[in-house]
Amino acid sequence: MTERIKVVGAGLAGCEAAYQLAKRGVPVDLVEMRPKKSTPAHKTGKFAELVCSNSLKSEDVNTAQGQLKREMRRLDSLILRAADYARVPAGSALAVDRDLFSDYVERTLRSYKNIAFIEEEADRIEPFTIVATGPLTGEAMCEAIKEKTNGEFLNFFDAVAPIVEADSVDYDLAFFAGRYGKGGEDYLNCPMDKEQYYSFVRELVSAERVLLHDFEKRDVFNACMPVEVMADRGEDALRFGPLRPVGLIDPRTDRRPYAVVQLRKENVEGTMYNLVGFQTNLKFGEQKRVFSMIPALHDAEFVRYGVMHRNTFIDAPKVLGEGFSLQSDPTVFIAGQLSGVEGYVESAASGLLAGINAYRRLRGLPVFDPPATTMLGGLVKYVRTENKDFQPMHAGYPLTPELSEKIRDKQRRKQAYSERAERDFAPFAEEYEKQ
Ligand SMILES: Cc1cc2nc3c(=O)[nH]c(=O)nc-3n(C[C@H](O)[C@H](O)[C@H](O)COP(=O)(O)OP(=O)(O)OC[C@H]3O[C@@H](n4cnc5c(N)ncnc54)[C@H](O)[C@@H]3O)c2cc1C
Repeated sequence: MTERIKVVGAGLAGCEAAYQLAKRGVPVDLVEMRPKKSTPAHKTGKFAELVCSNSLKSEDVNTAQGQLKREMRRLDSLILRAADYARVPAGSALAVDRDLFSDYVERTLRSYKNIAFIEEEADRIEPFTIVATGPLTGEAMCEAIKEKTNGEFLNFFDAVAPIVEADSVDYDLAFFAGRYGKGGEDYLNCPMDKEQYYSFVRELVSAERVLLHDFEKRDVFNACMPVEVMADRGEDALRFGPLRPVGLIDPRTDRRPYAVVQLRKENVEGTMYNLVGFQTNLKFGEQKRVFSMIPALHDAEFVRYGVMHRNTFIDAPKVLGEGFSLQSDPTVFIAGQLSGVEGYVESAASGLLAGINAYRRLRGLPVFDPPATTMLGGLVKYVRTENKDFQPMHAGYPLTPELSEKIRDKQRRKQAYSERAERDFAPFAEEYEKQ
């Protein structure tokens, strides 16, 4: 029996999986192709690069995202330790300085003598491998996965938001505030009046897009819908979406603006801001032209423009067995976005479970299978439940069984879900830690 496990891809999932194996004493080959060869979204050769937003979403334990983090912390998630280390203020969200974050992950992994680092593009899948090559997996690896999964593959398109230099924002036309006073000065708000808002929307919907025809033929993933596609749905769509002004009062007028573009710190120093909810597929020149119509951004310098990207994943319910392993070869695991979860933390979560389970398979131990009422268990159940329109999924309580009692109040309902998950996860984790 092999004693080594190969992990392909040093992204969110691959790094988490390699860590879970290495800390249990398993020799690991961590194969990463960057910086030699990159993907359309990665910009660096760093491990666990965050390719778009610097937010790992809510930390509030009374949300599904917060509960997922609580469960992962309990299992000593490397990705969350790195996030705690690199955090930047963002209200109740866990946002990070992306460089500090990646450096922490890489430094930790490199401190393990039982991890060998291999810089190459993998193009085949051997037994005892965790494949964590992400949503931008290249042709050769796609072919290898296809071979292992009888071609059960799906693709769609996704979009990312631009980043501007903090110094280039006009602070006379913006104000710091969290919605409803929460989060202090974590967000920089760029207000618009009625006229400014509608001329912005008019230009946005008519601006030139990349891959317009290809893109329009495909499904847009709702959780990351390009801002221009959202605007296509009606002239007020953005005012009720990412540009909603509720809970924000402009101190210059003492009134709620007609619409607000929120900027969030991109790094600890606060030298860059991302445009919250502005994933886009506009051509770069058009992004500059149209987004500069936001009054506070009239002279904005764009550090990075938004881009469209492919999203590749397996048809998980058809091909995954226990613990993110393949039905066709239980020694091969698929982790990260490729496995049919969606999001940074969810990708790390599936890497965590794949890492623990690859270790357990090696040692002949039963699979680590969290109860369905927990957030980790909900994700596992989702990727294994038959679904003819299968799409990668964020953590959310709809993935767990309904509560036994009906609770009308939304906040109280979420809290009840979290309490149940925590009640079920704690003894489960304790029991498992004894093994
Ligand atoms: C452009 C884009 C924007 C996104 N924005 C967000 C966002 O804002 N928030 C969010 O929560 N989620 C976002 N996602 C979704 C998802 O959370 C991220 O893609 C996340 O990084 C997925 O983690 P992963 O570990 O599965 O893949 P990745 O983090 O992409 O890691 C895969 C790694 O494998 C390497 N690799 C690939 N093929 C090979 C090979 N053949 N051999 C060796 N190495 C290989 C890659 O270089 C990479 O390092 C986005 C996805 C994309 C593509």
